[in-house]
Amino acid sequence: MSWSRRDFVRGAALGGAALAMSAKTIGAKAQTEMQAVPRRKFERIDLEVPVMTVGTVPLTDFAPILRAMEWGINFVHTCSGYADGKAIEMVAEAMQEIDREDIVLGIKTRLEYDSVMRDLDVLGTDHVEIAFYHSTEPAEPGQEQVYEDFLRLKEAGAVKFLGLTSHGAVPEVMEAGLQTGWYDVLMPAYNPGNAAEVDPILERAAEQGVGGMVMKSLRGGGGEAEQVWGNMLAKKHWTTICWSVRTDGDVDKMAQFANDWERWVDAETEVALALAAEGRVCASCGSCDRLCPQRVAVSDILRYEMYAAEYGWVRRGKKLYASLPPSRSAEACTDCGACVAGCYAHLNIPARLRVAHRVLS
Ligand code: SF4
Ligand code: SF4
Repeated sequence: MSWSRRDFVRGAALGGAALAMSAKTIGAKAQTEMQAVPRRKFERIDLEVPVMTVGTVPLTDFAPILRAMEWGINFVHTCSGYADGKAIEMVAEAMQEIDREDIVLGIKTRLEYDSVMRDLDVLGTDHVEIAFYHSTEPAEPGQEQVYEDFLRLKEAGAVKFLGLTSHGAVPEVMEAGLQTGWYDVLMPAYNPGNAAEVDPILERAAEQGVGGMVMKSLRGGGGEAEQVWGNMLAKKHWTTICWSVRTDGDVDKMAQFANDWERWVDAETEVALALAAEGRVCASCGSCDRLCPQRVAVSDILRYEMYAAEYGWVRRGKKLYASLPPSRSAEACTDCGACVAGCYAHLNIPARLRVAHRVLS
């Protein structure tokens, strides 16, 4: 009996037993100790997903997705804007090797009908499992239009479930989304800097079966990725952690962690990480944006700096910064301090903006 790559990927996506049989069969690469990663469920929609999810922000190669499938990591999150449009094309390329029913797809979107249909066209599929409505404005997730747009897409068979994602005004946006009862999965930027504010919201969400999906988990704060992730997965309201990958090595790292995550759970480490985050980690709460009389795009600028300085995505960070009008750039900051008083993470915001400007210019 001979196995194609598609057979192997399928076996892995279906679980450990199939994985073991396939691994014996297909040769040297598969002889690597590979064990399908643990799974959890988005309860309300009865959808099982691996505890680590493939993010695609910097993806310019389709191989890491196939590698992830081999580990049983079959949940992929993408967006037409990632990597200048290349990422979604790479997901499509990988899907040529994968049976559609074996992969779970999530897209970040504003739910415009034509735009979602274009994404499906690129992906070469007629539907995605979860459309994540993206917003940084607390007033938006509860707008009737959002739900109507989702229902239209659902009726067309293009989207099955609704998610909500945010990296600005995070606690307020998530709370607003939870209040509507419309969202099946919440996907906030979450890290040791904003855990105290975000965890209680996600705990209440979990009581209603709403899934929790972490993004931007490593925003500063020190510690190894495994230390940060271990304490996150110990909280049952987090179903999965989405981590953007570039290489097979990234995928192997997340898979090996996922198979051993309980080793990293440590209450003392969590406290240490939270303390390290104090004064250093922007929690994406967006309070500064509302307080600044100059309308400097503070939280965006700090996020762009994170892309460049922490993730190594210098070109992307610079490009995003260059797209801001000068009146909203770091140079427009007058050092008045109004934002600092409202920053519960106690960041020296004017100083951080000066650093960001140097990094991004
Ligand atoms: S700089 Fe402070 S106030 Fe602004 S988004 Fe970050 S944590 Fe919130
Ligand atoms: S210190 Fe700068 S960023 Fe902060 S409120 Fe004043 S002008 Fe805006």
